[in-house]
Amino acid sequence: MTKDPDCIFCKIANGDIPSDTVFENEEFRVILDLNPATKGHALVLPKYHFTNIYDMESGYTGRAFETARSVALAMKNGLNCEGVNVIQNNEALAGQSVFHFHIHVIPRYKDDGQQVLWKPGKSDPEEQKKLAETIGNAM
Ligand code: 5GP
Ligand code: ZN
Repeated sequence: MTKDPDCIFCKIANGDIPSDTVFENEEFRVILDLNPATKGHALVLPKYHFTNIYDMESGYTGRAFETARSVALAMKNGLNCEGVNVIQNNEALAGQSVFHFHIHVIPRYKDDGQQVLWKPGKSDPEEQKKLAETIGNAM
C-alpha cells in the first residue's frame, strides 16, 4: 500500500492539507465535502492511495463501508436527517472526479432539492438470466 504525493485526497487523508474532519483512525479519515450535496455530506477516505474500488486491498473495502455505516448512524442521531445515501463512484463515466477511492455519505432532508436516484429501466427475463450468469461467471 502506498501514498501518492500528487494526490489531493492522500494529502487530506494524511493531514498534510487541513480539512473539516468528522472522524479519524489509523486507516481512514472522514471529512466534509467541499461542495456538499446537502448539509453534512461526508467522504470516507482511506489513508493509502487506492484509485477506485477495483484496486482496493482485500479487507479494506469492508472496513471502509463499516466506517460509512457509522457515519450514517451518526448523521441519523446528530443531524436528524430523514435518510442517508451511501454512494461510491468508479471511473469518470460513473461520475468519479477525484481518483482516490472514497465513499460519499449524504444525509437527506425533506425538500432538500437533491436527486441522486437513477431513472428505472425495463428488464427482459431472458436478458436478465444471461446477465446474471455473465457477471456470476466472471467472479
Ligand atoms: P467523485 O465525483 O469523485 O465521486 O467525488 C469527489 C468529491 O470530492 C466531490 O463531491 C467534490 O466536491 C469533493 N472534493 C473535491 N476536492 C475536494 C477538496 O479539496 N476537499 C474536499 N473536502 N472535498 C473535495
Ligand atoms: Zn490518493
